[in-house]
Amino acid sequence: MKEYDFVVIGSGIAGLSFALKAAKHGSVAVITKRKGPDTNTAWAQGGIACVTSDEDSFELHVRDTLEAGAGLCDENVVRTIVTEAPARIQDLVELGMQFDEREVCGHREFDLGREGGHSKRRVLHVRDVTGKEIENALLSELGRSRNGGVDLLENHMAVDLITAAKLGYAAEDRCLGIYVLDENSGKVETIRSDRIVLATGGCGKVYLYTTNPDIATGDGVAMAWRAGVTIANMEFVQFHPTCLFHPKAKSFLISEAVRGEGGILRNNRGEDFMQRYDPRGSLAPRDIVARAIDAEIKRSGAQCVFLDITDKPVEFLRERFPNIYETCLRFGIDMTKQPIPVVPAAHYQCGGIKTDVNGATSLPGLSAIGEVGCTGLHGANRLASNSLLEGLVVAHRACEAMLQERRPSRVTPISLPEWQSGDVQNVDELVVIYHNWDEIRRLMWDYVGIVRTDKRLQRASARLRNLQREIREFYWNFTVSVDLLELRNLATVAALIVDSALSRKESRGLHYTLDYPEREDRQFRRDTLLSRG
Ligand SMILES: Cc1cc2nc3c(=O)[nH]c(=O)nc-3n(C[C@H](O)[C@H](O)[C@H](O)COP(=O)(O)OP(=O)(O)OC[C@H]3O[C@@H](n4cnc5c(N)ncnc54)[C@H](O)[C@@H]3O)c2cc1C
Repeated sequence: MKEYDFVVIGSGIAGLSFALKAAKHGSVAVITKRKGPDTNTAWAQGGIACVTSDEDSFELHVRDTLEAGAGLCDENVVRTIVTEAPARIQDLVELGMQFDEREVCGHREFDLGREGGHSKRRVLHVRDVTGKEIENALLSELGRSRNGGVDLLENHMAVDLITAAKLGYAAEDRCLGIYVLDENSGKVETIRSDRIVLATGGCGKVYLYTTNPDIATGDGVAMAWRAGVTIANMEFVQFHPTCLFHPKAKSFLISEAVRGEGGILRNNRGEDFMQRYDPRGSLAPRDIVARAIDAEIKRSGAQCVFLDITDKPVEFLRERFPNIYETCLRFGIDMTKQPIPVVPAAHYQCGGIKTDVNGATSLPGLSAIGEVGCTGLHGANRLASNSLLEGLVVAHRACEAMLQERRPSRVTPISLPEWQSGDVQNVDELVVIYHNWDEIRRLMWDYVGIVRTDKRLQRASARLRNLQREIREFYWNFTVSVDLLELRNLATVAALIVDSALSRKESRGLHYTLDYPEREDRQFRRDTLLSRG
């Protein structure tokens, strides 16, 4: 059995930022289920929101975030994260991050991007590959820290949390460690730590169409749920309005910054249809744009709509959006000459493991930071480019808070049992795993998408219960594998989304239902909280 002062699950912006700070105070393991850079973070294009310009203010950033959040943000959390942003951006700059700059009246300043819902230009970026640059900067620094006590365990998948309650110490429940599948050996290891940090990102893969990479299977939320931790607001799944529509393009996002720079959404008749839905037109917040596209597609029977930025100079587009330009060109679309075909796709999990602004969960010894956590920053709808920021700020605060906390002192620590596994390997049954994967993702897309009804949600709920029963049987009988573990987690997270959606009897932010189309402010219900405990 291994033992560390801090165990971090996930190597995105949240996990790595935390690990770099924690490494100054003790031994750290960073556990990640693929290679280090296989994260949502590395795919982020637009950038990080932070007030840096004299024309902007913290007050405006707070106001824009609250407005996007449709009445569900925690204002104190929003204020904390917005005002601490400049200090955390400075941390990144000190690691060597070079955000794009421009020359203004003889001096250099940040070249700020504009995105939907922001009243000012405030998004720091590195062309359209911001996330990749951040991930590289953090991983390089981690490489330097490894001699100083950080173990980066790649191809290791966290399976389940070990808690005192599960071992029969219900009166003093806390997190004691974690089981981790070493994909190289196929063995499940036991790792002890009284400071476990989940930084496992989101759950986009629960939907058929998503902008997220394959790692985004909701593992953190599912593990926390099984450990009895409180989960919040899972009905608020953000659909990004503009994912490239091409039969061979897997999940390629066309950044909101394209609309920020003047891109106009048009329907198949070439009309600027967003003017009919919102006075802000193509730059309305994401939930409004995604719903408008959904309605426009359903109304016209077309397969997609189009994002038109052809009126901008060719040189500007190539320089500002090199990644988007090259990728579209590979699929035969020249964005400088023709509109880009786009559709909405699942993008961001606004809910997650309920935490305070320091990432503390309802289970002592367990923190959740980044997209997996639900601090109250995003409310019912995330403001673009606030998520990388949340990962940075909450990682820093989580580390500071842990260092202040008194650690449990047991003369004889509770002994942790080794993993018990079904030892049958039945490759013939693999088809069941793949079939169930597809079924969950398809049913979530069809029944639990951008526009919902109670009837469709109930249908999804009944199907998911059956699938969960089947998966449970599999789980106990066969040797665990990454595919099986991810399937189990996807099914759990899908059921949590459906249960949360069914319990919210109103339309608010990202949750829109035809059965309750109005926002219910008279009997205002804050967070949707689910707990197994
Ligand atoms: C295409 C795209 C563009 C985006 N653009 C922006 C943007 O411009 N600005 C912005 O603010 N946000 C953006 N986002 C959202 C943002 O990228 C994410 O919210 C953020 O990067 C999440 O960071 P994280 O550290 O919480 O998780 P991630 O970066 O997703 O990292 C999660 C980590 O956990 C690991 N992991 C998961 N489960 C397990 C397990 N069971 N065991 C071990 N390891 C596990 C993964 O392998 C990965 O290393 C974008 C997202 C996408 C997909």
